[in-house]
Amino acid sequence: MTALPPNATIGLVGGGQLGRMSALAAARLGYRCHILTREVDSPAAQVSHAVTISDYSDPVSLRAFAEAVDVISFEFENVSAEGLDLLASIKPVRPAPSVLRISQDRLAEKSFLNGAGAETAPWAPVHSLAELREAAARLGLPAVLKTTRLGYDGKGQAMLRTQEDLEPAFERLQPKPLVLEGFVDFGMEISVVIARGVDGSISAFDTVENRHKAHILDLTFAPARIPQSVDAAAQATARRVAEALDLIGLLAVEMFVDRTGRVLVNEIAPRPHNSGHWSIDACPASQFEMHIRSIAGLPLPPAVRHSDAVMKNLVGPADVALWPQILATQGLIPHLYGKTEAREGRKMGHVTRLFPRGALPGDFGIRDALGVLGEDA
Ligand code: AMP
Repeated sequence: MTALPPNATIGLVGGGQLGRMSALAAARLGYRCHILTREVDSPAAQVSHAVTISDYSDPVSLRAFAEAVDVISFEFENVSAEGLDLLASIKPVRPAPSVLRISQDRLAEKSFLNGAGAETAPWAPVHSLAELREAAARLGLPAVLKTTRLGYDGKGQAMLRTQEDLEPAFERLQPKPLVLEGFVDFGMEISVVIARGVDGSISAFDTVENRHKAHILDLTFAPARIPQSVDAAAQATARRVAEALDLIGLLAVEMFVDRTGRVLVNEIAPRPHNSGHWSIDACPASQFEMHIRSIAGLPLPPAVRHSDAVMKNLVGPADVALWPQILATQGLIPHLYGKTEAREGRKMGHVTRLFPRGALPGDFGIRDALGVLGEDA
């Protein structure tokens, strides 16, 4: 395909903050976005040209949506296989349905990753309690039992520490099948966001360090404070996975660094990612611009970082209550997603704090630099 011309319409499936920030980047490049979402008054639709409010599986809406746009991409991945095929029969879908099918299913994802030469924690499929007992004996405890589909922010998983944990966790987690993963005693969680264009060109953002709180991303440090060898392994892994997927679009690769410095892939997401939000403020072309450029067939600039950065998520009512102080704190770059209801555990916005390249402080300095948000960081 030749490049999408200015004023063309990009169809984005999903109405959340990732769609909102993609739509803002698309607008700056002269494109319009049409959002498909179940939600009335969604963060993405608030800043877009058009919206279709529908279930993601309704063929009539999917068809009308596809006919109204020039190219289709996602911020929400869990569209049914039939829905994806229907969209792809009408307009280019980027990343391709085959990529989404892999990332939607942890078993398909792990088989794919290992086949592409990317290491993961040891794992085993679990269809029955007997299979779980056998897998736990083989992988050892502790281990993490996860649903294969629809898990996010730590939902759909259970830590297994003793034999007594097996049966209740197996009964609780739905839908089946499940996957058992060996527990990784990681020293750090890192990620790489990588874009691959229509022509196969690649731009990868710097490897970043991620800290979670209650299974939700809390802080991202750009760049990750890791040895050069670990960084090289993380970057090579992201590149290998993007190429093996024959990706057109954006991909986030979340990884563990274990105590020996080995890099293991936890999961992949073929879309913009929370751990790439820092790039809006610290890079000439953010992950959202790379997303739009890659699916629109535009050239990909190098993913250079002009500043070091720390990103902190604003989660739930407690963080939103700090908004006036955040706005009054010099140096905090505020982003709010337009969600009207601040539920517990809901990502409402984020802030970025920039530092000169090479001057990312240590943990104490970062706490200080985050002002009112640093108190619990
Ligand atoms: P996930 O939903 O797979 O992204 O997992 C959410 C979080 O749970 C990860 O970011 C880790 O902090 C933790 N986690 C998941 N899988 C494992 C594992 N196999 N070993 C250790 N920690 C894990």
